[in-house]
Amino acid sequence: MQLDTALQLLRQSGHDLPEGTPGSDAWLQSLIDSLVDMSSRDALTGLANRRSFELALAREIDRVARAGEPALLLALDIDHFKSVNDTHGHASGDLVLKAVANALLDCVRPMDLVARVGGEEFAIVMPNCPAAFGEAVAERVRRRVEAMPVNIGLSQQIHVSVSIGGAFAPQWVRSSPALWIERADIQLYRAKAQGRNRVCLEPSAVSVVSAEEKALLFGISQFQDIE
Ligand code: GH3
Ligand code: MG
Ligand code: MG
Repeated sequence: MQLDTALQLLRQSGHDLPEGTPGSDAWLQSLIDSLVDMSSRDALTGLANRRSFELALAREIDRVARAGEPALLLALDIDHFKSVNDTHGHASGDLVLKAVANALLDCVRPMDLVARVGGEEFAIVMPNCPAAFGEAVAERVRRRVEAMPVNIGLSQQIHVSVSIGGAFAPQWVRSSPALWIERADIQLYRAKAQGRNRVCLEPSAVSVVSAEEKALLFGISQFQDIE
């Protein structure tokens, strides 16, 4: 990448330009750090973007398979967000997205990763998370968003809610980010179908291990029929 293209990208994304003497080692390092930061964050909310979310999931799957620590993935989706845009305009919708992002960050531990994975879709990766703790956090997030007024004009406030689905990584079994996301999404669809503004978690940390996950564990297809 040309230097001036890199600087232009940083300027456009609202990042500070590197300080110091242009071309010096420190200046170049600071430029690289800013580019890495930019490529891992969502521009609107400052949360981790989908790319860094998927990297974090893959890292977490490794850790769970190695150490057996329970890890929880929460998939969150703002309820009826289209009507927020339709009624109050896209700019107000953006304010809601930022407010929800901040609320999520407020509810989690420093070791948890909060990401914006799509338009009005978020995810939280929670390493080392016992089942009861995961449920409590998901419910805390739901209540926090429900109770939070979002200022969208001088004297106008609106309220939104989120539906949350969650699934634990199968312990001791190598999975894939896609399979884990699919499980959390199934629970999210349940939460939507049951009326929205609710939490649905997959019942147990090790409940379902698919043939695909067993194959990932053993690395060969002849084990796919192990029950
Ligand atoms: P549900 O309760 O089923 O989730 O309904 P919904 O209206 O939230 O879902 P739907 O997927 O129909 O609508 C999502 C909307 O999110 C549509 C799209 O215009 C809006 N959206 C996606 N990205 C952005 C964004 O960056 N800013 C704003 N303001 N709106 C966005
Ligand atoms: Mg959606
Ligand atoms: Mg939605």
